[in-house]
Amino acid sequence: MINVTKTYLPDKNIYMKYIDKIYETGWVTNNGQFAKQLEKELKDYLGVRNIILVSNGTLALQVAYKLLNLSDGVITTPFSFVATTSSMVWEGLKPVFVDINKDSFNIDCAEIESKISNTISAIVPVHVFGNGCDVEEIQKISRKHNLKVIYDAAHAFGVKYKEKSILNYGDISILSFHATKVFHTIEGGALIINNDDLYERAKLMINFGIKGPEKIDELGINAKMNEFQAAMGLCMLNSMDEIFKNRKAVYEIYANAFYNRNDVKLQIHNLNCNYNYSYFPIVFETEEKLLKVKRTLEKNNIYARRYFYPSLDTLYYLNNEHLKVSNSIARTILCLPMYDSLDNKTQYKIIKLVLECLT
Ligand SMILES: *Cc1c(COP(=O)(O)O)cnc(C)c1O
Repeated sequence: MINVTKTYLPDKNIYMKYIDKIYETGWVTNNGQFAKQLEKELKDYLGVRNIILVSNGTLALQVAYKLLNLSDGVITTPFSFVATTSSMVWEGLKPVFVDINKDSFNIDCAEIESKISNTISAIVPVHVFGNGCDVEEIQKISRKHNLKVIYDAAHAFGVKYKEKSILNYGDISILSFHATKVFHTIEGGALIINNDDLYERAKLMINFGIKGPEKIDELGINAKMNEFQAAMGLCMLNSMDEIFKNRKAVYEIYANAFYNRNDVKLQIHNLNCNYNYSYFPIVFETEEKLLKVKRTLEKNNIYARRYFYPSLDTLYYLNNEHLKVSNSIARTILCLPMYDSLDNKTQYKIIKLVLECLT
């Protein structure tokens, strides 16, 4: 069975060396040695000022909203994983959707200002499928209107904008280290925070607001990463060169097969960014074609996924006008299996099956 992704698992013996150490010390969570080490290594690897590891990406979003004291409306994109929106609603915020650009699949910057009113406190864009947003334009808009910016960078591990980490843009960026992401810690995530004071407060917030054994300085929650997760992250980090190299090779085979066809459309990447080869989305002319491709692959035990469907403006717990481009893309986009160990033979079979459906 071939799924849309396959979790990279490091050499078991290497992982076990870390586990042995955890057993030796008996320290399993609460900012242990591996969490500290991973934080430091990631900070250097990514090229960011401050990073805090957390237990998942959704909590990273929730902590970010609280930390920046968001209220009322938040401008965001309807074309994302549901957590971008559900985390806002969970925190009592109201998502205000701006449609996406038909080529980048990211929030359409030209549409943002028309949705800004005095109830809007922030913008939460997503670098969808690892494609960098127009961060300079978003910075301009947010400064002009005095709005906070939190990037949902769950897909953007390793992405640089003009040679520097894209995670440095906005007030906060969040990462997800879920097992389906390019870099993972089984479950996990991180907050990247530019401002040092906010960073200090966030460290307390993710641990119940506890400052010392008998001192509570913040309203907090439990969002800590444990040592088993951090150990997985340390193993992963050693393999990232190899993972990116293999993903790039897989990506290029797909790209060569599908670019320049007028019956399918590929995501157009931001030319100021490198790409992290995290997903391979392909847009068909109609939903019928997509369903035909999906069913054909399934008959061959290959499970592509409709990322992202449905468009989040249609969520039943919201009452929103439906946005045209996002709904149209959501109906016709399919992510093909994409991971470092996808073998050539399987990949050529996937391509052949897709192309047969198109003729
Ligand atoms: C995966 C993902 C999240 C949530 O991260 P978890 O670690 O699974 O909680 C948030 N936003 C986007 C865009 C994602 O893809």
